[in-house]
Amino acid sequence: MNILSPELTAVLYLIAAVCFILALKGLSSPKSARRGNLIGAFGALLAMVVVFLSTELDNVLLILGVIALGTAIAVPASRLVKMTQMPQLVALFNGVGGGAAALVALLELTHVDGLGSLIAVAFTVLVGAVSFAGSAITFAKLQELMPTRPIVFPGAPVVISLVALGSLASAVWLVLTGDVLASYVLLALGTALGVLVVLPVGGADVPIVISLLNAFTGLTVAASGLVLGNTLLLVAGTLVGASGTILTRAMASAMGRSVVGILFGAFRGGSTAGSTAMSDRPVRSSSAEDVAILLGYAQRVIVVPGYGLAVAQAQHTMAELATTLEAKGIEVVFGIHPVAGRMPGHMNVLLAEANVPYEVLAEMDEVNPQFKNCDVALVVGANDVVNPAAKTSPGSPIYGMPILDVASARQVVFLKRSMRPGFAGIENDLLFEPQTTLLFGDAKDSLTKVLTAVKNL
Ligand code: NDP
Repeated sequence: MNILSPELTAVLYLIAAVCFILALKGLSSPKSARRGNLIGAFGALLAMVVVFLSTELDNVLLILGVIALGTAIAVPASRLVKMTQMPQLVALFNGVGGGAAALVALLELTHVDGLGSLIAVAFTVLVGAVSFAGSAITFAKLQELMPTRPIVFPGAPVVISLVALGSLASAVWLVLTGDVLASYVLLALGTALGVLVVLPVGGADVPIVISLLNAFTGLTVAASGLVLGNTLLLVAGTLVGASGTILTRAMASAMGRSVVGILFGAFRGGSTAGSTAMSDRPVRSSSAEDVAILLGYAQRVIVVPGYGLAVAQAQHTMAELATTLEAKGIEVVFGIHPVAGRMPGHMNVLLAEANVPYEVLAEMDEVNPQFKNCDVALVVGANDVVNPAAKTSPGSPIYGMPILDVASARQVVFLKRSMRPGFAGIENDLLFEPQTTLLFGDAKDSLTKVLTAVKNL
């Protein structure tokens, strides 16, 4: 249907672009994130409707059928996914976006001419293929369909370099000749490159690579906007590319790592996937009642939430414990590490869900000086983000990552189920220190017991 004038189409695209920008603004705070998401979804819906009303489309029924199929898969997938599995869902959706952009560019090859358009096609096919294949591998790693550790094989750097050079050569071939065969070779080599570049990434670095590939997909979509002459794709892709790049840099710096180190660290032995060999040194474990006494007679408590809080879905019980302690005149602060959990802002979202007021959440730099004046640091399902090895062991895979300075608290209580390590797979010496007590069990069960005991004090 071609019932919208070009002017009206441009205005509606502009409104959709403004929606995307407002969505990003909304996502910058947990308070407005839900609204931001809805505004972004509205922008995307508007853009789709405008395409239908402003273009003479062939195969409309097929397109509608595919949209219905995509919706039927995506809606339940998004509804059913657990919060802790969000990174792999993002990887999957992101990869599909990159792959789709690459396919669109392939199909457009026979309709474009001019050097600029051919460069845009070559870029879209290559980066879209890398993004699709790389995202598929990150998904498989995080879903534990394949080993999460870095996978390196002899001669890998040479193979990667050759495939990268081959990809560049086919991109040049495509730009110079517009040959369809060149586009297929480029697609194949780009796919191989995506797999090869992501295989050596492991452990805590995988979610960062997802964010990097997300930025790639944004750039691919922007380039496909050039190919199709669609300004909205250009704007939306640029927004995703820019925000993905900023997020990648923020995550990498919160972990004290560089993006190059993350991608190629395994070849130098610098990946964050540690060994799982653990020592059998003794630890001090205690009961929920003992922990309740420690907390109930403290003046200041700093709670350090981590991934385990999310796994146990213990945020509501944690919030109730904090309120109960506050009612007894005890000061409670939540110390939030930027990479606690499995995605940026994970702890903020979790605690906001349990209505923990923003005023009691303290970022790492703000809370670290407070540990030395705190009676109890209550570590709920966190491990790597409080592991002193990040400061003291130059050989450790997390060396250089800024951590929460829990070790300076007078007493440290860890709530965890076992002596298993955290995401980086390395032992935490703090568990064996004399001021540390462990309360073993699922965080929700343990917190429920501690809460009951605190109420009975
Ligand atoms: P960790 O993964 O280091 O530790 C989680 C702890 O929770 C473990 O000690 C585990 O021990 C415990 N745990 C798991 N389930 C439960 C449960 N049901 N009840 C009680 N305890 C439980 O988490 P952190 O939050 O400390 O660190 C996050 C890690 O993820 C870092 O390595 C970070 O670099 C990485 N990462 C984070 C990203 C982000 O953006 N947030 C992105 C990329 C990586 P046990 O099994 O014994 O119970």
